Amino acid sequence: MNHITLTAMPAAGHVNPTVPLVRELVRRKIAVSYYATEEFRGPVERLGAEFRPYPAGAISPTMIAEATRHGGPVEVVTRVLDATHALVPFLIDDLRDRPPAAMAFDSNALWGRMAAASLGLPMISLMTTMLLGADGLRSLGARELISFVGESVAGIPGTVAARQRMVRRFGTGSLPPRPIFPMRGDLTLFPIPEWMQGSDSRLDRTCHFVGPTIEPASGTDDHDADLTDLLATAEPLVLVSLGTLHTGSEAFFRSCFEAFADLPARVLLSVGTEIDPARLGRPSANTLVRSSVPQLRVLERASVFVTHGGMNSALEGLHFGVPLVVVPQQFEQMIIGRAVAERGAGVVLRQHLSHRAVPPAELRAAVDDCLADPTRRAAARTLGKSLPAGGGAVAAADLIDELVAGRTPAAGPTLP
Ligand code: UDP
Repeated sequence: MNHITLTAMPAAGHVNPTVPLVRELVRRKIAVSYYATEEFRGPVERLGAEFRPYPAGAISPTMIAEATRHGGPVEVVTRVLDATHALVPFLIDDLRDRPPAAMAFDSNALWGRMAAASLGLPMISLMTTMLLGADGLRSLGARELISFVGESVAGIPGTVAARQRMVRRFGTGSLPPRPIFPMRGDLTLFPIPEWMQGSDSRLDRTCHFVGPTIEPASGTDDHDADLTDLLATAEPLVLVSLGTLHTGSEAFFRSCFEAFADLPARVLLSVGTEIDPARLGRPSANTLVRSSVPQLRVLERASVFVTHGGMNSALEGLHFGVPLVVVPQQFEQMIIGRAVAERGAGVVLRQHLSHRAVPPAELRAAVDDCLADPTRRAAARTLGKSLPAGGGAVAAADLIDELVAGRTPAAGPTLP
């Protein structure tokens, strides 16, 4: 094996977990061609992989974030189906004359799987989170379920229409069996610990829980003197972030101002690029607001992490032994938060799932609890120490090696 192709979903939460794997493949002298959008050129090239840009306009981090914010997972599926029209022919053209030994694709990047099937390549699905079934939905309360269904129903006609366009363009047999997402491959790699995954009939011998490999924290932005100072103080530090796709609402971050104004700790709010920090008003002296922060560097010395419970953020927090206050923005994040809370390493505040505000007093009580109760930190440390058990990127690269060595690629359907 000397060449692997990877087709990414262009979003930080999807690209970040691929970084250690690509680094490991490159270390083994395997050429990696990495397809993503221009935003990721620098990070990909720094790994020593070949960067291949998706054609402009097909899919972008902004499209994914907007779809997530305005229509949830159903709207994201519509975007993915639409992007696939342009990206399947593009990938086939690009790879026909230099087929790789295998195609790795994000478990939502339908174009990667369809191109791999058409070219007869072994398929490696890169999951970013666990499989969620009806059990997960059953854990929603009535108000949460109504919010979830309400948000999803509005997008369903759009998804059905996008699916019909796909079938007209590529034929019925070209799509993976339903439910299409998340897609599995000949090998399906989960960069998460197995305890995060509930029982699910889709799990089979192709699925491997290698766990996360968290990259070493890199330096802060030297030009940000306030952030550098904040990280250097000895006081407890609370990081608040709702990830890169949801970025919450101004109301939530304002309630953080209120909840933490007299907290005996420093507070760092990462509010995302959609919120203008100036619109939030003046934070109290203990609080610093940024659009984005070097999260690993901050978590390395944080005492509590108020997070939406995205899989990357949750595992990054645990890696550094930081207890989590999880404020889920979608139900998958509630399941992640619950798995952490059941093991004593955090607290879940579910109000956003039913479009209600988190009362500042409750937010404060959860953070106070995580700051004051040493068993929370101990539990987070225990979970953090267990994360490397799955073997991480090295185990993932070994599995890819085995797949490619042991399988003669079969020819798949020819796509127009
Ligand atoms: N992240 C970051 N700085 C920030 C906010 C997020 O570096 O200010 C990174 C974070 O470390 C994580 C990713 O962005 O790796 C977010 O992924 P996650 O799965 O937690 O959430 P998503 O953004 O996909 O909802």
